[in-house]
Amino acid sequence: MNTFLLEIVTPDHLVYSKRVNSLSVVGAEGELGILPGHVPLVTPLRVAPMTIKSEEGTTTLAVHGGFLEVHKDKVTVLAESAELPAEIDLERAEAAKERAQRRLQSRGKMDEVDHRRAELALQRAVTRIKVSSRSGHH
Ligand code: ATP
Repeated sequence: MNTFLLEIVTPDHLVYSKRVNSLSVVGAEGELGILPGHVPLVTPLRVAPMTIKSEEGTTTLAVHGGFLEVHKDKVTVLAESAELPAEIDLERAEAAKERAQRRLQSRGKMDEVDHRRAELALQRAVTRIKVSSRSGHH
């Protein structure tokens, strides 16, 4: 079969471990498609949806930063957090999005670190909302 093992790991659990046909992620330099036999590679990931194609169909996950490692016979995603559509609490993500937007609007009172933190929180929330609504789990 034309597949490879994909493992998605966060500091607190193994989110996903299955043989898949392809993987599409957003790396530091843009969109990246991984097929079986891809050359070994390590790249940081952006906060973005990740699309997996397997014999079960297409699955989209919310992946929040971290690294992609392509090995000879296995692909690993090490992320700070990652959620399958069914795991996403849409109301929580909507609240996080509004909170981050409010913080960004009061930017004058914020230092650069807090601004960056609010931007990342907004990206995580928007990614969760996209993944949750794409899959119909809401
Ligand atoms: P919040 O402000 O709502 O806590 P956050 O982006 O700051 O969101 P993270 O630090 O990325 O949260 O994640 C902390 C933990 O909570 C992780 O285990 C993550 O998977 C989980 N998590 C965060 N937001 C959601 C959500 N909307 N639905 C399900 N799990 C979530």
